Amino acid sequence: MKKVQYERPVIQRLNVGLMNKYGSRTEFTPVTQIDGNAVAQLITQYGSPLFVISERTIRQTYRQANRAFKTRYPKVQFAWSYKTNYINAVCNVFHQEGSWAEVVSGFEYSKAIYNGVPGNKIIFNGPDKSAEELKLAIENNSLIHIDNLDELYTINDLASTLTKRPRVAIRVNMDTGVYPMWDRFGFNYENGEALDAINKIVLNNNMDLVGLHCHIGTFMLTPSAYAIAATKLSELAISIQKKHKKSIEYIDMGGGFASHNTLKGSYLQGIDASPGFDQYAEAICTSLLNAGFSEGELPLLILETGRALIDEAGYLLGSVISNKRLSDGRRATIMDFGVNILFTSFWYNHKISPAQPFSQYTEDTVIYGPLCMNIDVVRENIAFPALKKNDQVVVHTVGAYNMTQWMQFIAMRPAVVLIDMNDKPHLIRKRENINSVQNEEVMPDYLKDCLL
Ligand SMILES: *Cc1c(COP(=O)(O)O)cnc(C)c1O
Repeated sequence: MKKVQYERPVIQRLNVGLMNKYGSRTEFTPVTQIDGNAVAQLITQYGSPLFVISERTIRQTYRQANRAFKTRYPKVQFAWSYKTNYINAVCNVFHQEGSWAEVVSGFEYSKAIYNGVPGNKIIFNGPDKSAEELKLAIENNSLIHIDNLDELYTINDLASTLTKRPRVAIRVNMDTGVYPMWDRFGFNYENGEALDAINKIVLNNNMDLVGLHCHIGTFMLTPSAYAIAATKLSELAISIQKKHKKSIEYIDMGGGFASHNTLKGSYLQGIDASPGFDQYAEAICTSLLNAGFSEGELPLLILETGRALIDEAGYLLGSVISNKRLSDGRRATIMDFGVNILFTSFWYNHKISPAQPFSQYTEDTVIYGPLCMNIDVVRENIAFPALKKNDQVVVHTVGAYNMTQWMQFIAMRPAVVLIDMNDKPHLIRKRENINSVQNEEVMPDYLKDCLL
């Protein structure tokens, strides 16, 4: 008879205490690995703190979003919002999935070109485009989304000196029922500015009006706002068709879908509060399909989704520097990462998991960063188990905006690692060192000696 294998019994302590609004569930289970890579090993190899990005999560999320729209609308194109995360390796994961590039400055435009994105697949947004940059974009057949009349006139002037006809769209802002309205970008729909700009472009006949664009806000929790925006842009497109006998090639609905982060002050956790891609897609596609476009005239739907495609794929690993008691008795834990590299902790309550087993007792804790600045608070109040010096943690949902808005302030920026589809880690941005900062400094001769 085969001997039955002995299995050690496990005794688990049940915590007695008040339930929170989620019942007795505790948020904290240790997160010891990311896509098959031990947190401790990653930190040993690349240092602490460390940003880690899961390529698998990026591709899965992108495919989910793409599917939500493609199953509802015949022509869909995503364009990766560079400012959300413009580390080249990350951009190229999106480009490999079929995403174009959406950029908001000449610097981001150069990055897209560097990454190999063909000029006609770059969307050039934003209020700050120099004549030089516009000229390059025109020569490359890029899609230029005009923000204001001064820009329109500059393109008009350039067009008369160039052989290529600029391919342009206008950015339209509008009342979608969400306030405050984002009316500082583009031309207003309600007061007729947008139609005015369209007439100027079409009647001047110096450039091709190929699209209409809006980007109504960010972390939008109401899909119905997109339904209103899509309806208003469609009305504009159809009125251009009627008046000028010209069809718009595309409608670009911008970005702004919410990720699963939890906004400060939100009662529900982000995972429960944020709409899914299907809800946004339903709102947008239904409006476009019902807008009255004749068959064959349906515009291409472009989406510039940023944070909702990358936030979940990003993690920040860090270590405990010390613990202390504040004067009011609360426990404070000081981490080696702060608002300098985790800018989004100003508006999210980021989920933080210890990276090693811990006792079941939790205590209200303030989590501070390492900066010598009072505002360096990562979590104001979190029920957290006791961690000791050098214990490690994983901060979740940090892929959007942190790796572009991070500051070189007091500390250097950490390394970034991408874990590929086979669970292999790759360094995609090196940890900064003192030369990263001082290379750009210039010392006048007379100050060369410090004379001490
Ligand atoms: C920032 C930005 C986006 C991406 O916005 P998310 O809120 O991250 O989805 C898209 N389009 C434009 C024009 C933007 O400025």
